[in-house]
Amino acid sequence: FSLLVCSTDSIYLIGSLDYRSNPKKMSAVMSTSKIANAGAQMSGKASRVTKVVRLQAPCARIPPSVMPATRSTLVIAAAAATASPPSASLADQFKPNAVARIPPTQQKQTAIITGASSGLGLNAAKALAATGEWHVVMACRDFLKAEKAAKAIGMPAGSYSILHLDLSSLESVRQFVASFKATGRRLDALVCNAAVYLPTAKEPRFTADGFELSVGTNHLGHFLLTNLLLDDLKNAPNKQPRCVIVGSITGNTNTLAGNVPPKANLGDLSGLASGVTVANPMMDGQEFNGAKAYKDSKVACMMTVRQMHDRFHESTGVTFASLYPGCIAETGLFREHYGVFKTLFPPFQKYVTKGYVSEEEAGRRLAQVISDPKLNKSGAYWSWSSSKGSFENQVSEEVADDAKAAKLWDLSAKLVGLSA
Ligand code: NDP
Repeated sequence: FSLLVCSTDSIYLIGSLDYRSNPKKMSAVMSTSKIANAGAQMSGKASRVTKVVRLQAPCARIPPSVMPATRSTLVIAAAAATASPPSASLADQFKPNAVARIPPTQQKQTAIITGASSGLGLNAAKALAATGEWHVVMACRDFLKAEKAAKAIGMPAGSYSILHLDLSSLESVRQFVASFKATGRRLDALVCNAAVYLPTAKEPRFTADGFELSVGTNHLGHFLLTNLLLDDLKNAPNKQPRCVIVGSITGNTNTLAGNVPPKANLGDLSGLASGVTVANPMMDGQEFNGAKAYKDSKVACMMTVRQMHDRFHESTGVTFASLYPGCIAETGLFREHYGVFKTLFPPFQKYVTKGYVSEEEAGRRLAQVISDPKLNKSGAYWSWSSSKGSFENQVSEEVADDAKAAKLWDLSAKLVGLSA
């Protein structure tokens, strides 16, 4: 069953285990119409519904008579009272048609940032919001973590909203896109930032759709997302729409860092062709290696940017770009690494390689790629140096292999259910 917890203004889905193990059943439970029905029945005045549902009426007002109607799909576990009303950002988010009533040209520019609940994404969200010119949609799998992080870092209420997105489920990606479109917000920038890194994993893990987790989350989830939101970007009123996918130096074998084993290599893409499933979890069809799976996924992200540039820049006017923000050695990305690595890596990067960059500085760099008119070159891969600031960097031979990238595109499109 799916487990939902109610507070005075909210219902939170907390049954993520069920979601992973039985995505079809769970997504049926979470389908907007069903939840909308349940919500409407329960509150009598359900507000606009997204994947994580919030009701404006206190749960105490749910008439007992509606419970049998919802019992087959929902288990209401608790009705914990919360004293505080929804924050301004949430109120803005859940007022029906609050944004849709404002013509797109009069709305603030909007950026969607995936994985904005920590690290680079959170700091880029902060930097954009601080300009007063952007509204940031934080696309996150952990709604409460994102809300707490946004408040803790001082993002002004109303400068952001949070929509649920779990990139390890294609159904969630589709649901996110539907929820975003339903807000009526314009879209000026899409930032694919979220990632998982499993350097110590002995065994592969898998997404709801059965893809190896790093490739499924970092590449395939974003691949579907960017394709589904391309039209929204094309129609951006700011006339400088951007799609940014965060890359990494570690995937680029033309650098020192990129030559630290295991090196990225997509090989003949035979593993991807067979679905990066339990039988063949690596894109190159070789034995599983968690660190390499991450590096491979970043190569795929950077190749996707180049393919999108080739395929769509001219017809849509969208600028596609990738970047390496520097080594942000203390972020949650390294959460699964060995303790000793986590202790030594930051000072090593600070004092030996000098590649270290703070989360705040990295966030400013990403915000620059999203919004600086000077960084509007499509197909570019941006990096920074202390002497030059931002500069266009060279990608590795593999990332620049357009024939391989075209094959990657076709296989990825097939896996996520898009026609190539
Ligand atoms: P963090 O772990 O702080 O951020 C990663 C974000 O991705 C988190 O918000 C996380 O959510 C989110 N995420 C993970 N899985 C999913 C999922 N299934 N669905 C939705 N969101 C998900 O790491 P960083 O800030 O360092 O990483 C951000 C980007 O920067 C990544 O693309 C990474 O590859 C890139 N990068 C990082 C470098 C570094 O040195 N740190 C260097 C080069 C590139 P949650 O909070 O719920 O876990």
